[in-house]
Formats: sequence, structure tokens, C-alpha cells
Amino acid sequence: MPFPSFRRAALWRGFFWCGAGLLSVLAAPEVRAQQLSPLSAPALEPPALLETEDDAPASLVRRPARISRPALTVRGVPISAPPDGFYQTPEEIEPWLLNLSRLRPSQVKTRILGATLGGNRIVALEIAPSGVSPWKLRRLAVLCRQHGNEPESSASGARFIREFLTSTDPKKRAIAQKTALLIVPIANPDGAAVYRRRTEENIDMNRDWGPFRTQETRVLANWLGAWKPHLIVDVHQWLPKDRQNAPMAEASGGALARRTAKRMAQNSARRGYALSARSRWGLDTLSHRFWGQRLKIPAILLETRHRPGVAGAREAAIGTSLAALWGAAEMVSRK
Ligand SMILES: [Zn+2]
Repeated sequence: MPFPSFRRAALWRGFFWCGAGLLSVLAAPEVRAQQLSPLSAPALEPPALLETEDDAPASLVRRPARISRPALTVRGVPISAPPDGFYQTPEEIEPWLLNLSRLRPSQVKTRILGATLGGNRIVALEIAPSGVSPWKLRRLAVLCRQHGNEPESSASGARFIREFLTSTDPKKRAIAQKTALLIVPIANPDGAAVYRRRTEENIDMNRDWGPFRTQETRVLANWLGAWKPHLIVDVHQWLPKDRQNAPMAEASGGALARRTAKRMAQNSARRGYALSARSRWGLDTLSHRFWGQRLKIPAILLETRHRPGVAGAREAAIGTSLAALWGAAEMVSRK
């Protein structure tokens, strides 16, 4: 037992957080997500209190993006390809995300988790087969774009959403039937709006899990904790200046995470994309280690390469992430 005292502490912290979450839910049913304390993160109930798109003021609902590419249909209305611009700004992506819950209301719920200092919104999608409660399914949570200057993380998240809803591949359909996908395509919308790594407060979100100085990590911790996902994938990109920049899936939080990282690497290799799998113990204010090390929820950090101006690099980054995300979904869909 290399970390007995840590484990005991983590257990007590878990009890405390669960209790705090439940109390906050009971005490203030009308409270909105952005007002909850980060200590309420892993609550025991689904986040039913959050504002949904249906409740949003009409003035905030933007018009959907123009559909310019062929659409696929699988037992539902067609879903257009997501906007494919380089920067993947909230202004570009959000209308497409919001429109999904209108096109497939029985499968897609949109939640506005909170507003940011810069005047943007954090949008989450909760996707499950029609008529099936996510609580009866395996739950995969995906966070994309904590760093605003990693745009292909959002692009791959959006493409994953579309495939999850429309793929005709029997294996992917079987996975999607058993899995609830809980996904935030733009976790740092203020940064994403201006191609900036940090938040409006100039804080690196992915060093803020635990300190919770940012609104973004607070609302995301509430939402993720409330859903009790079986696995969390945090999608990132190495930048050209990063010394170590080989694509990788880094596991935290136990055997399922380690097996999943390997599967993600295998899936990517099958598509011709190199992705290494590894596991590391260390700084736990990174989101995957916050969930994995502190709370024992299996979590993966996925890193592809962001190489603007390099021919083929964008598609390679998106293709790697997409293959890896399906690998994660496959692993989590198994009991
Ligand atoms: Zn990053």
C-alpha cells in the first residue's frame, strides 16, 4: 500500500463532498450552477437545477449556422457537419451545438452551465438514446478546449458528437446505444473566442482543478461531479513550442483508465495516427489527475499536435482525437 494515508484522506474528502453536494441541492433548489460552491462538486443527483437551453432568454439564442455540407440521417432528422473554421470560436460553434437539441430533442439535452467573465457561455450536451435515462447507461464525459489556443480539440469534439448521433457503423451504433455522452466542446469559451490559452482572468484552467479560482472550473466540476461519469477524457493539444509533443493518452485513476489509454492508442494506430499510451502520478491540479488521483474516477488526458500552417496537420489532429474518443467510448461502454 504505497499511499495509505492519501487514500484515507481521499475517501473522507469524497464523503465530505458528496454530503456537501447533497446539502446544497436540498437547501437551495433554485440555485444556478454558477453559484454553487466547488466543494459541492460530486453530488449524488443529476444536475437538474441547471438552466437548459429551453429556458434561455430568446435574445441569447443565436441563429444556427448555415448548412453547407451534406447531412447524414440515422433514425432522426439530418445533422449537418459542424462548422469547420480554423479557430472554432464559440460564435461559430455554439449555434450548431444549440441546434442539436432542437433537431434531436429526445436524444440531446443542452445545458448552459454558466456565464463567463468575458460574456460567453459554457455549453454542455448530454446525449443518450431516446427514452433511456443516462443513469441506466455507462457515462462518458468529454471536456474539450480548456486551452483556447487548441482549436482542433473542439473540432474533434464536435465531429465526435455528430458521429455519435449519426454513424451507421454497427460497432459505433452498439457503443452509442450503451453510452451516455456528456460533452463540453468549448470549456474555455473566453479563451477560444480570441485564440488564447488562458481564461479572461489570465488563469490556466488546467492548473485550477482543486484551487477552483475560475468560474469555468467551478461550474465544470459541479456538472461532472453530479453526473458521476465512469470515465472522463480531457482533450488537448501540444503546441509547436512544447518540447515534448508526441501525441499521447495519459491515464489517471486506475486500471480502466490505463486500459482505455491503450485502446485509444490502438484505435488511432488503426487509422494511421501515432498515439502513445502512458500513466503518470503527479500534479493533481490538472483535470485528469484531479479526477483520477484525488477522486478515483478514471480519467485520460488526450494530447494531439496543433501545428498551424503545416499541411495535413489539422486533419491528423482531428483524426487522432476522433479515433481515440471512439476507443474511450468502446471501453466505457463495456460493463
Ligand atoms: Zn491544453
